[in-house]
Amino acid sequence: MKYALVTGGSRGIGRAVCQRLSAMGLHVIINYLSNKAEAENTLALLQNAGGSGELLPFNVSNREESEKALEGWIAAHPGEYIEVLINNAGIRKDNLMMWMKPEEWDDVLSTNLDSFFNVTRVLVREMLVKKYGRIVNVVSVSGITGLPGQTNYSAAKAGVIGATKALSQEVARRNVTVNAIAPGFISTDMVSDLKEEDFKKIIPMKRFGKPEEVADLIGFIASEKASYISGQVISINGGLPY
Ligand code: NAP
Repeated sequence: MKYALVTGGSRGIGRAVCQRLSAMGLHVIINYLSNKAEAENTLALLQNAGGSGELLPFNVSNREESEKALEGWIAAHPGEYIEVLINNAGIRKDNLMMWMKPEEWDDVLSTNLDSFFNVTRVLVREMLVKKYGRIVNVVSVSGITGLPGQTNYSAAKAGVIGATKALSQEVARRNVTVNAIAPGFISTDMVSDLKEEDFKKIIPMKRFGKPEEVADLIGFIASEKASYISGQVISINGGLPY
């Protein structure tokens, strides 16, 4: 059995990634925060298509909780390891800097950036021992260009991009690749407050992307075929020039 963990697998891009990895033959560990019903829906989608998976809820922004859940999984699966990690869970709490509340900064930084450390540090160890692993970090166009109203989110995603580049160099000799995927506007709950009509004017393809389109890219980067790609930030954004 080959195992993949997708953080934030209950909805949106994470759900589509779970489906993609399952179709590739991986047993998918579906992490989520609180939306059990949607996580169960994701699991049912995998099982109805002939795949397998399990739920592993924990708060990726909480170091102790993340370690406890992951160490528990490892202890229950001697001799096995999670060879594909998709750090996907994320939140937005937009505000102009002058109005930004400390908790809007802290929540976005801990969920989008600290989560990378909380989850990856536990799982990379066994990837190094087994000399194979795939780590894919879902970042954002905001982490590349910075977007007004998103100093918190832009800082967090830019932080993950830096961490991606650094870690990829630490682990490359052991066939562990680390890459970042930077979506533009993708139709999920996260952007349900944005009107596609307004934003599509600036997108060359004149539409938002679909979670499945992002999942296809992540599926390739997480596959054995992407063996010589590491430390990269790969954009998927309908032709935006960054
Ligand atoms: P979404 O539909 O809002 O789903 C967010 C997922 O993250 C849910 O599964 C949620 O679990 C989980 N989550 C949130 N906080 C968590 C926590 N503390 N611990 C564990 N799980 C947590 O978001 P999405 O649009 O699919 O976004 C997925 C990733 O893509 C994020 O990193 C986001 O920043 C990035 N991204 C999205 C877009 C876009 O346009 N949609 C663009 C660029 C980048 P629950 O269901 O339990 O709440």
